[in-house]
Amino acid sequence: MENHSFQADAKQILKLVTHSIYSEREVFLRELLSNSSDALDKARFISLQNQEHRTIEGDASIRVFFDDTEKTITIEDDGIGMSREEIVENLGTIAQSGTKRFAEALEQGSDVFENLIGQFGVGFYAAFMVADKVSVETLSIKPDSTAIRWESDGGEGYSIGDGARDTRGTTITLHVKEDAEEFLSEYKLKHIIKKHSDFISWPIMMAVTPEPTLDEENEDNVEEVVDLNEEPQLERVNQDKALWLKSPSDVTEEDYNEFFKHVTKNWEDPLCHVHIRSEGTIEFNAILYVPKAPGWQLDNTNYKVDLKLYQRRVKVIEHANDLLPRFLRFVCGVVDSPSVSLNVSREILQNTPAAKAIQKQLTKKVLRKLAEFADENPEAYNEFWEKTGHMLKEGLADYDAKHKNDLLKLFRCKTTTGGDEWRSLAQIKADLKEGQEDIWYLADINKAQIAQRPVLEGFQKREWEVMLLSDPVDEWMVQMVREYDETPLKSVIHGELPEEDNNDDLKEDKEAAEPLVGWLKELFNDDVEEVRLSSRLTESPSIFVSQEGAMSANMEKILRSANQEVSESKRVLEINPSHPMVKTLSRLNSEGKAGLDDFAWLLLDHAEISEGKLNNPQAFAARLQGLMEKAAENL
Ligand code: ADP
Repeated sequence: MENHSFQADAKQILKLVTHSIYSEREVFLRELLSNSSDALDKARFISLQNQEHRTIEGDASIRVFFDDTEKTITIEDDGIGMSREEIVENLGTIAQSGTKRFAEALEQGSDVFENLIGQFGVGFYAAFMVADKVSVETLSIKPDSTAIRWESDGGEGYSIGDGARDTRGTTITLHVKEDAEEFLSEYKLKHIIKKHSDFISWPIMMAVTPEPTLDEENEDNVEEVVDLNEEPQLERVNQDKALWLKSPSDVTEEDYNEFFKHVTKNWEDPLCHVHIRSEGTIEFNAILYVPKAPGWQLDNTNYKVDLKLYQRRVKVIEHANDLLPRFLRFVCGVVDSPSVSLNVSREILQNTPAAKAIQKQLTKKVLRKLAEFADENPEAYNEFWEKTGHMLKEGLADYDAKHKNDLLKLFRCKTTTGGDEWRSLAQIKADLKEGQEDIWYLADINKAQIAQRPVLEGFQKREWEVMLLSDPVDEWMVQMVREYDETPLKSVIHGELPEEDNNDDLKEDKEAAEPLVGWLKELFNDDVEEVRLSSRLTESPSIFVSQEGAMSANMEKILRSANQEVSESKRVLEINPSHPMVKTLSRLNSEGKAGLDDFAWLLLDHAEISEGKLNNPQAFAARLQGLMEKAAENL
C-alpha cells in the first residue's frame, strides 16, 4: 500500500467531521447510499451509450451488510466504480468552492452540518461520523482498469494499493466506532434506509434473518434451526416510490416533503410544490418544489439546478439546467418524460423541442403557483421573496420578458412609506396620492443608506411612496419594465418632481435665486452638466440628479464593481432655493460680495457627499478648513 496525504481543505473538513458531536449521525448511510445510487445511474448511462464497459451478471443493486463481531457495516454497489486516479481525486480532495462556506456553516452548529454535508459535496466523509477506519474496494467500469483498495482513518492521509474486487462497482467498509455500535443492527439499518433512502430507484438489499423453522419430525420439540452455511437471503428494503407518476390525490403532503428532502439533500420542508401531469404533444410528469431559500451555489455563473430529468423512471440527467429559465434556477424536483432519449446529454437536451416545450410549461406553472401561494400565505411568501426575489427579478430584467405580467404579480419591495413591509406593485398603485401620476423608485445598492437619500425629501413631504430598490439587478429591471398596469415607473434621480400647486413661497424663492444659478453655472462650468433649482428638497441645500436618459451613479457603481469601464457622466446639480445657506449666498452674490467661491463649492461638495462619494477630498478639506477659520473669527 502506498501512503498519500489528504489535500489541505479535505483535511480541514475531516477534522471537523471527526471532532463534532452529532444528534443525527444516521445520515452517514443516506450519503453513502446516495453515492452508490449515483454510481449506478452513471453506469447505466455508459451502457446505454454503448461505450465500452464492464458488464455485470444479474440485476444491478446496492447491498448493505453488517457484522456484529467484526464491528463493520458494508455498503456494496454495482456502480461505475473508480480508477486509481479517480479515487485520489474523488476521495482525497474536495471541490474547492464549497469548503469555505461549509466551514462557515459548521460554525453554526453540528446539526447544520448533518444537514448540509450532502449539499456540499463531501458526503463520503460522513462515513467518519460513525467509523474510525474506512476501507474502499473498487473496480472501475472501464475495461482497462484494475481493482483498487483505499483505506483511511480520516486523519492526515490515506493509503492506496491493489484491490480484490472482481466485478465492477464499489464496496465501502466502515469499521464502526465504539460509540456508534447501535448501528450494528438489522432493525436500525432498515429503519434508516426506509426513512432517508426510500426514494432511491435502485434496489437496496439487506440480508434478512431467516425465519425460525420448526423441526418437523419432532413437533413437540420446538427448536430453532438455522443453517449457518446457507447464503444469506437478500430482501429489498426501499420502495422506489416514483411519486411523480402517481395521481396527486394519492400522494400525501408528508411524501411530497420527504421526496423534496431526498431530491435536494435539503432538511427543511419546501415552501410549496406543483405536481404536473401533462398530456399535450410533449408528454411529461413533474413534481417541482420551491425551496424556502435558494441553494448557495446558484449565484455562480456555472450554477447547477437541482432538477432531475427521467425517462420513464430512469434518471437521464442530474442537473437539467435547460428545463428552467435562469430566473427560476432555485426550483427543484424531477421531470419524467417519455419524449426524451435515454442517452441524451446535457448539451443535446438544450436544443430539443421537448426541452423547450417542457420549460415553457414548467415556468408557467411555477409562476402561477407562486402567485397563488403569495395570496394565501403573504408572510411566508415575503420571507421567500427576501431571499430569492433577486433571481425572479432577473426574469423582468430580461429583454425578452415573456413572463412579465406573471412576474410583476410576484414582485415585492420596501418603500419609503411602508416601513418594514414588503409592498406589491398592486398595493403601491392602489395607494397613489392625489396628483401622483407615476410610481416613483430610487435604485441604490447602498441598502443601509437608501432611505436617507436627500433626493427623497420632496416625496416625503408630499407623503408619496417611493420604491427603494437596492439589488444590482433592479437597475436593469426598471429599464425593461417601464410601467405597471399603465402607470409609468419613474426614477427619482432622473425625473423632475413637479412643483406643488399653491406653493407661492417656493415660487418666490426660485425667482430670487435665478441670478445665483447663472453665476454657479459659470463657476462650476466643466464639473456639472447643468445647475437648476429644485422643487424636491426640503432639508438639504443641494443634490445631484441625472439627466433623463443618462446613466445613474448607481448604475456606474454596479458596472464598475463588475470590472467594466465606465466613464463618469456629468450630473445635474439641483439647488434648494429655500435653504437658508442658498438664500444668504444668493443675497451676498447679488450684492457683489467677493470671496464667495468656497461657499459655492460647498454646495457641490454637499451633493457629492450625499451620493456617498467625494471626488476630491483634499480640496474639500481645504475649503472646509478655510470656512471654519472664517467662522471662528466671527464667534
Ligand atoms: P459528492 O457525491 O457530492 O460529489 P462525495 O464526497 O459524497 O461528494 O463523493 C465524492 C466523489 O466520490 C463522488 O462525486 C464520486 O465521484 C465518488 N464516489 C463516491 N462514492 C462512490 C461510489 N459508491 N461509486 C463510485 N464513485 C463514488
